[in-house]
Amino acid sequence: MKISHIEHLGIAVKSIEEALPYYENVLGLTCYNIETVEDQKVRTAFLRCGETKIELLEATCPESTIAKFIENRGAGVHHVAFAVEDGVANALAEAEEKGVRLIDKAPRKGAEALNIAFLHPKSTLGVLTELCEK
Ligand code: ZN
Repeated sequence: MKISHIEHLGIAVKSIEEALPYYENVLGLTCYNIETVEDQKVRTAFLRCGETKIELLEATCPESTIAKFIENRGAGVHHVAFAVEDGVANALAEAEEKGVRLIDKAPRKGAEALNIAFLHPKSTLGVLTELCEK
């Protein structure tokens, strides 16, 4: 697969409202979009940092994977998202062929209308890995 850059870092937070002052007032980044992704049970806030974005993730209900993540591991870095240039579907097929366990067998719509898919952290040395494309 051909990765162009880190598209975003996903960071699990208990509350976007409580997290934003750190990112905006201390780091000086600007939040330009807050949106809820219903099927993932998350509310997301995006801040630009050069070519990469920071995606703050807040659970919308206790069953959300973000709620479970925070319960088990605390708030913090949740996933790394790489932008692929030759399509998420191709990248998934290649990863699977190389023995990587997939969370998503096919691309789906994520925040910001990106096509996304996740690789399983058991196959990626503990780092939940997202592949995405515009
Ligand atoms: Zn993400």
